Amino acid sequence: TIGMVVINRTGSVAAGTSTNGANHRVPGRVGDSPITGAGAYADSTVGGAAATGDGDVMMRFLPSFLAVELMRAGMDPTAACSTAIKRIKQHFPNFFGAIICANATGSYGAACNKVPGFTTFPFMVYSLQSGNPIERTVECI
Ligand code: ASP
Repeated sequence: TIGMVVINRTGSVAAGTSTNGANHRVPGRVGDSPITGAGAYADSTVGGAAATGDGDVMMRFLPSFLAVELMRAGMDPTAACSTAIKRIKQHFPNFFGAIICANATGSYGAACNKVPGFTTFPFMVYSLQSGNPIERTVECI
């Protein structure tokens, strides 16, 4: 999956995902990517989130919606991402997944579920101020 959260010059927030859908592709499979609140979610008054990983598990928890609602309640993006991952982990300790979160003021974070072979999650950040895309990495929880 490619997932993005974008804040434009006027402050509108958008989030989206693409998916290769290659894993477990069966006729009629939808997965999490196109489901609003699962693969991605945005609210221009709050921020946005986008998720990747085991879509068939993650789509049951609407992690992108949860993260945005937590940011709406005042949580910073890193904590919101972590809480969304922990919610899934409670039920599926070994799921493979990660989420990125950004709030409307441009703060951002990410989180991932630590499983063997997946202990860090790299993501890219670009802003007009930074000029160039910067790679960030979070330690999975
Ligand atoms: N979440 C995607 C899906 O299940 C796959 C991915 O993130 O790579 O379709």
